[in-house]
Amino acid sequence: MRIGFGYDSHRFDASRPLMLGGVRIDGAPGLAGHSDADALLHAIIDSLLGAAALGDIGSHFPDTDERWRGADSSDLLAAVAAEVAEAGYRVGNIDATVICERPKLRPHIDAMRARIAEILGIEASKVSVKGKTNEGMGAIGRGEGMAVYCVSLLETRR
Ligand code: MG
Repeated sequence: MRIGFGYDSHRFDASRPLMLGGVRIDGAPGLAGHSDADALLHAIIDSLLGAAALGDIGSHFPDTDERWRGADSSDLLAAVAAEVAEAGYRVGNIDATVICERPKLRPHIDAMRARIAEILGIEASKVSVKGKTNEGMGAIGRGEGMAVYCVSLLETRR
């Protein structure tokens, strides 16, 4: 087994739709970024790449590359999942924590878990997404953006 850790953060940009965990969440400010800025999928990508020691999201999908402008992060995660499988691993489980003051994530958690599981081709029972606020502290607490922490376990395929 191999464990990997991922982190991502993005500022809010109210002019964009919010994509989180591969799900569009209406009625909330979006996130600034080169791609669709899905911070949850980005943290998952980095945790999977980290577990396999295959680099990071920036080395795979540079934000200086026009190919990835407005990219659907679901496609990026699918590409990374294929690379991880090619390296001889399957996803054991994923556990992510999303930190933001708004929107309230509770109503969207199961849709995000289902979508992430679908992209990875695993059961939703292997995908955990948890939401927290930062209790009003710091930049996240002031509502300037969102941060995500994620750990993933990979198992050797045999
Ligand atoms: Mg990102």
